Amino acid sequence: MKAIVFSEQGSTEVLRYTDVPKPTIDADEVLVKVAACAVNYLDLHARRNRPEIAEKFQRGETPHILGSDIAGTIAEIGNTARGVAVGDRVVLAPCIPCGVCSDCRTGTENLCDTQELIGFQTNGGYAEYVKAPARNAIQIPDALSFVNAAAMPIAYLTAWHMLMTRAVLRPGEDILILGVGGGVGSAGLQIAKLTGAKVFATASSDEKLARAREMGADITINYKDMDFSEVVLEATDGRGVDVVLEHVGAATWEQSIASLAKNGRLVSCGVTTGNIGTINIRKLYQKQLTVMGSALGTVTELRTLVHLAAQEKLEPIIDRTLPLQRASEAHLLLENRRNFGKVVLRNA
Ligand SMILES: [Zn+2]
Repeated sequence: MKAIVFSEQGSTEVLRYTDVPKPTIDADEVLVKVAACAVNYLDLHARRNRPEIAEKFQRGETPHILGSDIAGTIAEIGNTARGVAVGDRVVLAPCIPCGVCSDCRTGTENLCDTQELIGFQTNGGYAEYVKAPARNAIQIPDALSFVNAAAMPIAYLTAWHMLMTRAVLRPGEDILILGVGGGVGSAGLQIAKLTGAKVFATASSDEKLARAREMGADITINYKDMDFSEVVLEATDGRGVDVVLEHVGAATWEQSIASLAKNGRLVSCGVTTGNIGTINIRKLYQKQLTVMGSALGTVTELRTLVHLAAQEKLEPIIDRTLPLQRASEAHLLLENRRNFGKVVLRNA
């Protein structure tokens, strides 16, 4: 089969479009003919320098195939695979949890210590075919396109788990979404609007902010020009917002905390600018603030998201689709932050 592969880490030039053997499935697995695979920032980090990939190469496991957000058609099923049939249109849940630890057994498999991410620890969807456990395959209705389905798992699961499960965003609340032009940010905006929240959104360009306003953002802030917490406080008569969706890390941490109202909740899922942030503990208790983490999401949550997308209550923002061969171009678009929403690779 054709695939985009790499055997050493580096610039986009390490990516090669070539022939590799089709995966062979175990009894509890399915083989999926990939129709669409969305590109994530993690793919870029994996290609450049993530140690997990370097270790894989040191073990002689080459080449690697990226791609965690996958939609396609079931082409083969293993002997013990249940609940799926050849020809089913599916989206794949991106994580493969162990299934037996206490986290897996209590429905919080997103916290499983030994889970593997498809396309990271295992070979992924930048290919004609990918294999996965049958339980990862979630059927999608005809109303949901492969491209839209592939754009959902990581971005929407992350945003949903953050806002609905962790921060428990309620109608009438105010929320600040950082980096609204990215996958998690734009998903967070749609989910927040579903709940009836008032949305403050930041981005690095006025063009991205105009798009965010079209999608329902109420107040938009270009963070290159100003301290966004000052704008938030001014727009709320000094009150602040109830929830901050934070995924930037060190660079925005203090402004994010400063944007919170009394009883405010900050929920974080990422640290693109650094791992360490400080907090004024006196303000933390005086304002009864909550700081919480959030790690991807569960298969059950992904089923909910597929249901909402099929009803067009959520509509993934697709920057563009590109044929699989042009994966390097897709990486460069993300690298230079030229995209608004997802870049999706498709097979002909
Ligand atoms: Zn587990």
